Amino acid sequence: MSKRGRFIWIAVVVMTFNMLCLAVAPEELVIGKWSNSEASLFFYGQGIGREITGGGIRFFRYQFPSEGVISLSYGGEESVAYSIAATSGELRLTATNGMETIYATAGGFTNLCAVNRRQLEGAMALYAADHEDAGPMMAEDLIPAYLAEMPHCPDGGSYYLGPPPMCSLVEHLTGDDD
Ligand SMILES: [Zn+2]
Repeated sequence: MSKRGRFIWIAVVVMTFNMLCLAVAPEELVIGKWSNSEASLFFYGQGIGREITGGGIRFFRYQFPSEGVISLSYGGEESVAYSIAATSGELRLTATNGMETIYATAGGFTNLCAVNRRQLEGAMALYAADHEDAGPMMAEDLIPAYLAEMPHCPDGGSYYLGPPPMCSLVEHLTGDDD
């Protein structure tokens, strides 16, 4: 193969590889459980996450304002942006001051109804944080500002806000995913 031919071949391989990497949306890469010695992060989908540290448990909203950036908002004014690099095994968040935090995957979710109820619980907590601690009167109050859509129970159950959010299928209420 000529030098030029080899160059074109390599360029095509590199471009294809880049396109494959970009084809996975950051949302798909982060959904699941992540942890390190200090904290656990849960990304439930619909932009709702939960953080557990020695200091307590709190929900956050996550968004991807631009490529390679994730912002976490904890209700009220508090919002933090990080550069994000995610693979299937590792999540790397770099703060604007350069401080890097690395999380290892702690697995995916298996209890999808529990994940849906966490989405509702998180959306309600973030709604309350923005409304002087008053929760939503009905699920419609959460959509679309806190959830894009009402989650659907995988087995057709109906959700009640509670709190805590419940599924009409009682057998779904045993065993949480996290
Ligand atoms: Zn259910």
